[in-house]
Amino acid sequence: MYEVIIVGSGPAGLFAALNLVKEGKDSILIIDKNPFPSGGMLNDCKLNLSTEIGMDLDELKISKDKAKEYIEFIDKTFLKFGAPDQIFGDDQTLYKEWDERAKRNDVEFIPAIQRHIGTDLSKNVIKNFRDFLEKKGVKFKLSTEIVDIKIKDKFYNLETSKGESFEGKYVILAPGRSGSKWLREISNRLNISYSNGKKIDVGIRVEMRNESYPITDVIYDPKFKIKSKYGNILRTFCTNPGGRVTLERYDDFTLVNGDALKSSKTENTNFALLDTIILTEPLTDPFVYGRLIAISTNILGNGRPIIQRVGDFLDEKRSKEETFFDKTRWFDRVKPTLNVGKLVTPGDIRMSYPYKIIKELKEALIKLNKIFGNTILKEENIIYAPEVKFYSLVYNTTEKLETNVKNIFVAGDGAGKSRGIVGAAISGIIASEGILKNENS
Ligand SMILES: Cc1cc2nc3c(=O)[nH]c(=O)nc-3n(C[C@H](O)[C@H](O)[C@H](O)COP(=O)(O)OP(=O)(O)OC[C@H]3O[C@@H](n4cnc5c(N)ncnc54)[C@H](O)[C@@H]3O)c2cc1C
Repeated sequence: MYEVIIVGSGPAGLFAALNLVKEGKDSILIIDKNPFPSGGMLNDCKLNLSTEIGMDLDELKISKDKAKEYIEFIDKTFLKFGAPDQIFGDDQTLYKEWDERAKRNDVEFIPAIQRHIGTDLSKNVIKNFRDFLEKKGVKFKLSTEIVDIKIKDKFYNLETSKGESFEGKYVILAPGRSGSKWLREISNRLNISYSNGKKIDVGIRVEMRNESYPITDVIYDPKFKIKSKYGNILRTFCTNPGGRVTLERYDDFTLVNGDALKSSKTENTNFALLDTIILTEPLTDPFVYGRLIAISTNILGNGRPIIQRVGDFLDEKRSKEETFFDKTRWFDRVKPTLNVGKLVTPGDIRMSYPYKIIKELKEALIKLNKIFGNTILKEENIIYAPEVKFYSLVYNTTEKLETNVKNIFVAGDGAGKSRGIVGAAISGIIASEGILKNENS
């Protein structure tokens, strides 16, 4: 029997445990289906230390000042466990020019202070985090998937796929985006209340040589917001200077994403350009819509994501394997970080993306190109698709993230409470505060 059981060892779960330990609790069990704790923290691990990115203060029901307090604590914690000292975006004079160019092109530039840990270094930071929690008495049960939760008197019985079960007085469900489907099923069984979202982000990943995107010397992951002629909002997201484009595999489709290592850099920079689509009647299920776009792009790519040269995209032509490195068009100048033919297939994203989204992506690329003096739309640059970001369901909770079922709390991306490492960590801390509050009432 544990006092608190946390499902998910991502930032939400780990920071919830840390705060409980800080307040003297030691009967805590963290369960994760993966063999290594961390959730999404292993992916690149850029910390966005800004209240405007990766969190929704209204959803978290906290003020900007309170959020800043949490952010400071989270950043200090990462530093304590070995995050690098270097910080980006804290000197406004260095990015003033891009800010002015953005305004001139009717683009909003959102400055953000960031710390980049990197996929390689984050492993060590997470190990230190785990060691610290274990020394304080927190137990980890890894490679263990929770399949069901049963109510037993005033306690909860969490059942694993291997037939084990763990009893807890309080439960924090922080299963991340990969566990959002499971969270929905559990919520239906336990009558935990939630509401459907209507939003989805559909976009592309753009890859170019590092020198084509010089802003990353001062801001690691610059955020530009562009309002299209149709009224949708597009934004740059998840920039990886010297990074790699990666694959994100799901049961029935594969998306593209990106990351960067701290110790070894590529010649390329990549970022996502995302178009936020809000569905209205009759189709209001964004998951169905996003999945269809992802699957159709994979089908055209013979089971893989599609890669296309910007030159071909602008000429309204498909890219082909035999001309993908054509020297006469300078295509040899940008070498894709994903293997062409093995992991991605040259093709035409206009075949699988709706007309409206293609038009908006093009409009946004043209604006970014103007801001950066014609480096974004160089013929040799590369576009990858599908890049789709699903929004989770939003769980109806108290201000301390307790659901309508007593002593069951939710936190992190899987519950729609965050969209990034720092936001997820904040929500984990808030849920742990809820447990402490219930204990003292
Ligand atoms: C490729 C990639 C790069 C990213 N880069 C960044 C970045 O640089 N900066 C940033 O801020 N954000 C980034 N993100 C997003 C970030 O990873 C998430 O926002 C964050 O990890 C969410 O934290 P979480 O605690 O809610 O969930 P997660 O970190 O997803 O953790 C949830 C954990 O729950 C476990 N779990 C799920 N279901 C069960 C179950 N039934 N039983 C047991 N365990 C379960 C999962 O295995 C997982 O370990 C990136 C995401 C990806 C995919």
